[in-house]
Amino acid sequence: MVFRIGHGFDIHPLVEGRRLVLAGMEVPCEVGCAGHSDADVVLHALADALLGALAAGDIGEWFPDTDAIWKDADSAVLLGKVLDAAAEKGAHLVNIDVTIYLERPKLGALKDRMRARLAELTRLDAGCVGLKARTFEGFGPVGAGRAAAATAVVLVEIPHPEKD
Ligand code: MG
Repeated sequence: MVFRIGHGFDIHPLVEGRRLVLAGMEVPCEVGCAGHSDADVVLHALADALLGALAAGDIGEWFPDTDAIWKDADSAVLLGKVLDAAAEKGAHLVNIDVTIYLERPKLGALKDRMRARLAELTRLDAGCVGLKARTFEGFGPVGAGRAAAATAVVLVEIPHPEKD
């Protein structure tokens, strides 16, 4: 077996009239992320990180926003498809580390539940799920409360191309 690391990033605009969905959970907020799917920046960053570790493209290729089938899609379903594809390659997810960038609302009170939800979605023990939330200190579109963003890093163990 060999280790592969993957990194993902996502950002979506915050607009009125949309639900705010982060890490597969609805977060009470007067604005939500605009996007073709439910626009969950956390799960999109995570799915991209996993695809990166597998050198398997990106979620834009897997779930094109020109495809009506993904309109308002639950991003937990998209992540599940990527996890299934990883499992088919014999890949084993070791740990994940996620950072959410959001000016408001503060996520401190939700972080434990969010971590548990991420553990459930990724089929990992909670001890293998890192989650941080921070603001952008007022800078840029995130700092102005006009966008939410997330980064994710994953480590996977995959069969060695020759030895396993
Ligand atoms: Mg996205």
